[in-house]
Amino acid sequence: MQHFPIFVAVAGKRIVVSGAGECAVAKLKLILKTEAFVEVYGTEPAADVITWAKAGRLTHHNRAFGPGDGAEAVLFYGANDDPDEDARVAAIARSEGVLANIVDNLGASEFITPAIVDRDPVTVAIGTEGAAPVLARDVKRRVEEMLPPTLGRLARIGQAFRARANALPFGRARRAFWSDYYFGRGPWALADAGHEGAQDALEDIFQAHLHRDAKKGRVDIVGAGPGDPGLMTQRARTLLHGADVVLHDALVPDEILELARREATVICTGKRGFQPSMRQEEICDLMVTHAQDGAHVVRLKGGDPVVFARLDEEMAALDAAGIDWAIVPGITAASAAAAAARVSLTKRGRNGALNLLTAHDVKGFADQDWRALAAPGAVAAVYMGKRAAAFLRGRMMIAGADGAMPVTLVENASRADQRIFDTTLADLPGAVDPLDGPVVMLLGLAPRRAAKAIAQVEAEFA
Ligand code: SAH
Repeated sequence: MQHFPIFVAVAGKRIVVSGAGECAVAKLKLILKTEAFVEVYGTEPAADVITWAKAGRLTHHNRAFGPGDGAEAVLFYGANDDPDEDARVAAIARSEGVLANIVDNLGASEFITPAIVDRDPVTVAIGTEGAAPVLARDVKRRVEEMLPPTLGRLARIGQAFRARANALPFGRARRAFWSDYYFGRGPWALADAGHEGAQDALEDIFQAHLHRDAKKGRVDIVGAGPGDPGLMTQRARTLLHGADVVLHDALVPDEILELARREATVICTGKRGFQPSMRQEEICDLMVTHAQDGAHVVRLKGGDPVVFARLDEEMAALDAAGIDWAIVPGITAASAAAAAARVSLTKRGRNGALNLLTAHDVKGFADQDWRALAAPGAVAAVYMGKRAAAFLRGRMMIAGADGAMPVTLVENASRADQRIFDTTLADLPGAVDPLDGPVVMLLGLAPRRAAKAIAQVEAEFA
């Protein structure tokens, strides 16, 4: 960043402009938005300058800027549309201790004027350091659309109320009050009933917050499903939308996180296989402190929170802190993988039991009842199995499994980038190795023919 944005206090101070023609007029349109004393030096003034001078909005001196004219000014603009004259006057202004800007000459200016979105007292300044004026205009247009025209008035009314709002406890309670005003009733009260209507609404909202019992926090441990937002439960959506704080796994995609409110605090606890992630105790602490602070916390987990999601540690922490909590189940990755491969996880005469297993646990590679898993017809869905594929194959073969046992791999189940692979136990390590996304391995199942054909086409194109 070569230019640091600041807001300069100019009310009651002098801003001096050298030049009174059209070049100056363009800048004056912005400068006249301020409460500064504006002084313009220059002969042959543009019509606008004369009008503004007559209306008392600026003082026009019908002569060139000279020594002494910059005294006590905060900002100086060289707007003569004449490089030599601008260099002369800027040198004088600088020698008198004023920050100088030469219009359309970035290199010779101590400061530049940004594009402005004006909802006074809310002001958005947009600058590109001269790199892309077109971009600045586009950003300005989008911000203009985003901010309702009444925002400034709303903020002024709010500003006058700040001292009274201090009666509410600092932090969440006070934020909730302001959020009700700015994003709730405030805007429509102003649109509907004007300034006084908005003031009345503000008072009402304040009284309601003042007499509200300290809000009791709680935690909902919610399954986000395998990734497709369409596979979330209705309850998961509703809770996510109402949450003050969302603590989510790395597995939860952005499309789902977007269902949270704009004001919600969204924190990624970033547990992703072998990459560094937040420690489990830290996650528990975050949940507990936010809930104790009165927040409605949604602990959002990929798939189903009751499957390989370290739920027990979190339930224990919540119980120990005496916090209300509940579980909202979700669709687990194995279900989504089976749906993608178009297979059933249980089948009469083939397997009356289904194993959900992790190839990884606290001690490293997880030991299982390999003999049962190796038996003909056995079906297991393996989670977190990528790094353990060779270990898994070894144990299964020792326990007597057939190397030709079918295995279906589903990567990114239910997401746009879902892929299905048809392999065997013998080939498992080589088949999983190149995959980057989360993978469920379905041991003992081959993808149904249609899914297999899709998998083949995908493999050919990969
Ligand atoms: N609670 C989650 C499982 C979390 S453990 C659930 O019920 O699905 C993380 C493992 O889940 C990953 O290593 C991977 O094996 C599996 N997984 C999660 N989402 C997946 C997806 N969309 N596609 C394939 N596997 C997935």
